[in-house]
Amino acid sequence: MKITEYISGLRENIHLAREQGKIIVLIPTMGHLHYGHLSMVENARKDDGDREKVYIIMSIFVNPLQFGENEDFDRYPRNLVRDSRLAQEAGVDMLFVPSVQEMYPDGQSLTTINVSRISEILCGSKRPGHFQGVATIVNKLFNIVLPDIAYFGQKDYQQFIVINKMVKDLNILVQLIAFPTVREQDGLAMSSRNSYLSSEERQQAPIIYQSLREGAVLITEGETDPDVIITTIKDRISKGSKGKIEYVEVRNAHNLERFEKIEGTVVISLAVWFGSTRLIDNILLEA
Ligand code: AMP
Repeated sequence: MKITEYISGLRENIHLAREQGKIIVLIPTMGHLHYGHLSMVENARKDDGDREKVYIIMSIFVNPLQFGENEDFDRYPRNLVRDSRLAQEAGVDMLFVPSVQEMYPDGQSLTTINVSRISEILCGSKRPGHFQGVATIVNKLFNIVLPDIAYFGQKDYQQFIVINKMVKDLNILVQLIAFPTVREQDGLAMSSRNSYLSSEERQQAPIIYQSLREGAVLITEGETDPDVIITTIKDRISKGSKGKIEYVEVRNAHNLERFEKIEGTVVISLAVWFGSTRLIDNILLEA
């Protein structure tokens, strides 16, 4: 595995890989790697069927543009030694670990990408500017790497929808893959932020996925009123844990619009605080 901090070094290696006829795969992350990240690498290798054909680039960049002023940018876990070992073992070809200076050499970027409406709801309503930061950095990475394929986790479902819309609206030539959420054995979605949880919070956190599944079962059994689903999930979380609910929503999974009556492809999405840790999760299903 090669590792570089520099855009120029990355581009040189991509150029060589392209000359060898390789398929360029990009997996953007913020590091503190876990099996959710590494499964995407394994999947990119496996899908290919031939280890030699894909060239897998993983980026690790804690992007200041997507963090609000009082958010966890400074304390976000960073450990490049551990991450590079895990990335190498998983089969990454090139690890791109730019500094903030490399990505934003003029300080602030005057150009940003705003995918309106769908960036302002759900997580976006409590984290103004977050998806603008995400879309901008992903757009920059796409321009730097020009990947054939890019992987994003379904765990950050709204992020995927925002990026998908950006790709469509701006005619970006890339195939996006929404990778299913990888979970701990007790159902908690793997996340770098799980490391913030105290042992009591960690014990209670699986209620998030349990409540989502309960909501999903109600829908598959025929419940069509979004409020019934939302109330059931909120009750379950607040009675069974100390989690503070930020939102629970039932939305059309394609465009994130609300339902009068639930039908078609549905995403139940939520954000819950355990102490000072904000956890998100979702479940996708057909009504
Ligand atoms: P992050 O490092 O948290 O920004 O995540 C980098 C990428 O990995 C994003 O596309 C996430 O959606 C994805 N990801 C994070 N956690 C998981 C998980 N538990 N399962 C699958 N993908 C994930």
